[in-house]
Amino acid sequence: MLQVGINGYGTIGKRVADAVVSQPDMELAGVAKTRPNFEAERAVANGYPLFAAVPERVERFAAVGIDLAGEVDELVERSDVVVDATPSGIGAENKELYETYDTPALYQGGEDADLVKTSFNARANFSEAVGADHVRVVSCNTTGLSRLVAPIEEAFGIEKVRATLVRRGGDPAQSGRGPINDVLPDPVSLPSHHGPDVKTIFPDLAIDTLGLKVPATLTHTHSVNVSLEREASAAEVRDLFENESRLFVIGEDLGIDGSGAIKEFALDAGRPRGDVWENCIWGESIAVEGSDLYLFQAIHQESDVVPENVDAVRAVTEIEDAETSIERTNEALGMGF
Ligand code: NAD
Repeated sequence: MLQVGINGYGTIGKRVADAVVSQPDMELAGVAKTRPNFEAERAVANGYPLFAAVPERVERFAAVGIDLAGEVDELVERSDVVVDATPSGIGAENKELYETYDTPALYQGGEDADLVKTSFNARANFSEAVGADHVRVVSCNTTGLSRLVAPIEEAFGIEKVRATLVRRGGDPAQSGRGPINDVLPDPVSLPSHHGPDVKTIFPDLAIDTLGLKVPATLTHTHSVNVSLEREASAAEVRDLFENESRLFVIGEDLGIDGSGAIKEFALDAGRPRGDVWENCIWGESIAVEGSDLYLFQAIHQESDVVPENVDAVRAVTEIEDAETSIERTNEALGMGF
């Protein structure tokens, strides 16, 4: 069984920890936290070994009666792979720690692309991460675009992608983030960082992205236009998407008109935390005009990168190929509605 440690137990870290626990070939070596808040309390309640991420703060856990299994160095030492899910920029600071113990590490999309040689999306470039020591699982938006681009490129070829990303202002628990009652072009000049980030996965892709930030917390929403190299009908594109395990085409009959309904649907389906690991593409929005494909998709920012992290663990440890890993991850999580 692969021992997987999680350093940084917030929005992404706690979801990846639960996903690791559900995998038949992985064990959770433990999770590291900086402070004893409700998430630390829940980690212990789940039986997850809890490590102090900052040695000077060990006493703070003891003061509120939370038992620690040790400090983060011990977690890194006992792990076959560490998933770093700390806030943007902290992963880069932690790289030396992982190197000290010769433990392969996965970083998240908030880190600069040049921190690692390989940025990762399971559908698009699993093989490039095989055996790598440091891999960055790309951000929620880049994951959402990569999952879409890979099958379109294979089936029809892509001349150019143009995408406008309507981004949530913050996650539901990020009470300190705005904007409040505003719509911000962000950045106001072309391109947003997402296009260049997608190119870390598809170096030769022509892609322009624009970003907006809105006062929403539930999902991002992408308005996508792809100029195709070969002719395709909307029905063919839809068929293609319906055969992809991490793309969910929202049926017309479901009456799902926005992010709120998507989340409600996921909660009704019994998804943990109402998570939506798949891209959600509105079936009715898939349209082809000449050689231009158009669609809308929603991306659940808190969870779409979770299965990707699980697959990246298998890639760096070289235990499975892409197809087997994706299938195993999906089955263990309960992917598909
Ligand atoms: P978060 O703030 O919810 O969680 C980060 C956790 O790390 C917190 O619990 C924080 O206390 C802890 N932490 C801070 N400093 C630490 C340290 N030195 N050592 C260990 N832990 C430390 O952040 P998040 O949203 O989970 O984001 C983590 C990473 O994932 C970032 O790179 C982010 O860009 C990326 N990401 C976030 C989202 C999202 O929508 N939330 C989506 C995809 C990728």
